[in-house]
Amino acid sequence: MKVLVINAGSSSLKYQFFESETGAVLAKGGAERIGLDDSLITHTRNGDEKVVLETDLPDHKEAMEQVLSLLTSPNYGVIQSMMEIDAVGHRVVHGGEKFSASALITPSVKAAIRVCFDLAPLHNPPNMTGIEACEAAMPGVPQVAVFDTAFHQSMPAAAYMYALPYEMYDEYRVRRYGFHGTSHRFVAQRCAELMDKPFDSLRIITCHLGNGSSIAAVDHGVCIDTSMGLTPLAGVCMGTRCGDIDPAIVTFLMQKEGLDHKGIDSLMNKKSGVLGVSGVSSDFRDLEEAANNGNKRARLALDMFVYHCKKYVGSYSAAMGGVDALVFTAGIGENNYLVRESIASGLGYMGLQLDEQKNHGVRGVEKELSVDGSQAKIFVIPTNEELAIARETEIVVRSAMAR
Ligand code: ADP
Repeated sequence: MKVLVINAGSSSLKYQFFESETGAVLAKGGAERIGLDDSLITHTRNGDEKVVLETDLPDHKEAMEQVLSLLTSPNYGVIQSMMEIDAVGHRVVHGGEKFSASALITPSVKAAIRVCFDLAPLHNPPNMTGIEACEAAMPGVPQVAVFDTAFHQSMPAAAYMYALPYEMYDEYRVRRYGFHGTSHRFVAQRCAELMDKPFDSLRIITCHLGNGSSIAAVDHGVCIDTSMGLTPLAGVCMGTRCGDIDPAIVTFLMQKEGLDHKGIDSLMNKKSGVLGVSGVSSDFRDLEEAANNGNKRARLALDMFVYHCKKYVGSYSAAMGGVDALVFTAGIGENNYLVRESIASGLGYMGLQLDEQKNHGVRGVEKELSVDGSQAKIFVIPTNEELAIARETEIVVRSAMAR
């Protein structure tokens, strides 16, 4: 099946076009600066050089139409006509409590996504814009929403409830949702394949460590806890996000710094994390360089990140009564062997023994990193959220056609 995967942001629309059975990427790219000056589209046909087209993109619909004409153009295209697109899969950040699985987009699914706008005001509205742009540009092509939150909907209430007045949950659905679910599920399932064991027989801790980072406990095939919460601000400290802090700090700093809700939100989301602590950068490559050159705050930021991750790994092992595998993924997890080594060191008591030689210098490839014969396994597994969305889309469309 030929599946177009769309990830729409407020001024961008990224795409990857897959042959979903083989996982082959036929083309990929994105429209940038939609609705702004100097908008452009980048497009790479499999095996070709990337092309950059400066073009007027007043809105997402126009961007989608131009992407479609690129995909079908004689010079850059990979298909003869739009009719060859079998389905479109959309990344949708927040599915609230309504979606524990991907869904074929219908008017009622769209209404339910709109209900979640409040929970993800920066993400769900542009995701919906992307859906509507595709509906307009490709009428009749089945579209599927794949939610970042869906995989975590299996968490038990004890894990997802906050100890606030119950009415806050009843009234506003304030609870833990978790994010990066498509990635956590993709790497956890791949881990089971690599171990040659049934997914539902394993206790796996997945560490998705990128600009945004989250950790999940996948117990016998279902997620039972994850570090992000109502929003992606919670959990381990991140590039620019503070992660878990004493909630009383919020009102304390609002008062001391004279901040309103937007001010404190920006401080915690954009000026905190390893950037805020180090004063250097949100990028771990810059942090390591600075730390190696003697910058103490950069070293502290790295130490904090590692310590937060280690605490989550320990707590999820406790929650699952042990662990069979620890998986690292995303930009930092896939590429930064020192961070992996620091998180995984000293976990031998849990059966997790990192082989430092196997781990050394490993970047962006799938590999087992544990000592031969160790009880539990450690892996680095590159994530591929777009491919996971393409495969989900195919499953949803095929099951709808079978009905
Ligand atoms: P996002 O959450 O924006 O998708 P990524 O998963 O790309 O973020 O992760 C970004 C982080 O990964 C940065 O801190 C960066 O230092 C690190 N990273 C990405 N690629 C590499 C690489 N090739 N080598 C080392 N670190 C990398």
